[in-house]
Amino acid sequence: MSRIAQPLGHGDVLASLRALAVALAGGSDRGLHHAWLFSGQRGVGKFLTARWWATLLKCPQVGECEPACDGCRLIAAGVHPDVVEIAIPEDKRSIGIAESRALLQRLSLRPTRSGPRIGIVRDAGAMTIDAQNAVLKLLEEPPGFAVIVLVADNAGAMLPTVRSRCRHLAFGDLAESEVAAILVSLGRSAEEAAAAAACARGSVARAQTYDAEGLAEREALLLAYEQARNGQADIDAVLQALVARKESGYALGELLEWQLTKVKSSLGNRVHEPSEPLARVLEAAAGADTAALLEEAGRIHWTMTALERNANARLAIRDLLLNVRI
Ligand SMILES: [Zn+2]
Repeated sequence: MSRIAQPLGHGDVLASLRALAVALAGGSDRGLHHAWLFSGQRGVGKFLTARWWATLLKCPQVGECEPACDGCRLIAAGVHPDVVEIAIPEDKRSIGIAESRALLQRLSLRPTRSGPRIGIVRDAGAMTIDAQNAVLKLLEEPPGFAVIVLVADNAGAMLPTVRSRCRHLAFGDLAESEVAAILVSLGRSAEEAAAAAACARGSVARAQTYDAEGLAEREALLLAYEQARNGQADIDAVLQALVARKESGYALGELLEWQLTKVKSSLGNRVHEPSEPLARVLEAAAGADTAALLEEAGRIHWTMTALERNANARLAIRDLLLNVRI
């Protein structure tokens, strides 16, 4: 890779980040806050955007050098001396104070080339309280030449004191066509990419969990569910199959998301273009009235919450099967 390409989607967010880099290259650092929080669900390109932005901030030609300059190539290779990335260490489940301190130490040094020093914390939501407090010192007394980007799936995982010192950019879900295009660029066939994108709910990471086998399994699961709902299959048999699955938590989540998709679709917010034959189910759902749909959505959320609290999965889903109408 010679240079980190501009990520797909997030038009406004990327445009504002680019504008700051262009201004910096022109000698103005107005608006270039020293601390940023990029949040949004996993798999929408937050980390990639942070690396891409680092390229723009460090490159004298704002990432438009041709061929790619040394700086752009070093960032793409992950070895630029002024761009420091930290993530959860392989043998750990969180980012601890040792990682934070190493980051701060690197960010306290003057940049070796033009442009700021840039620290990117991947999975910032996994920083321990101590690690976050250590970073807080940098946020309170920034050295002037450092920019730090905290990348978190859930902004709520950051301490309020950290959050309040950051400029917050919220990354929305990717469009289905964007997810499909990214999957194709990663080597999936167009057909499989479209099918995986349709159930990815805007996340490339989620789409990647659906290989051809996973897609077929999902389809079979949802059909069995619909058949049980319509009285064409025994509810208990479907439940038994579900609960017996090794990853039943995942399968149950799929069902709830599916039920929610139907409701959203009926409310006129058609978020998916599902493949046949499930499209027919959605069509049938489209005639329901709004009040019933809202009630339905509430019921699904209740079931999701109940399952998160480790309620009896079998009972919760049985209740959903018996009581939802769409
Ligand atoms: Zn360059």
